[in-house]
Amino acid sequence: MQDDTQYTCGSCGEEIVIPIDFSAGPRQQYVEDCPVCCCANVICVEISPEGEVSSWGKLE
Ligand SMILES: [Zn+2]
Repeated sequence: MQDDTQYTCGSCGEEIVIPIDFSAGPRQQYVEDCPVCCCANVICVEISPEGEVSSWGKLE
């Protein structure tokens, strides 16, 4: 099973790899600062019952 995923920073367009916290539930949303440009992105992570992970980011 994959244990990391990625999102695209809404500010600089960089792909950022993030670890998946499976203990946090099937739908997660949190704010993280882009490590490249330091803009705050809202990260959404969805884990399907089959274990497939979708994730995306948008500017806060
Ligand atoms: Zn960025």
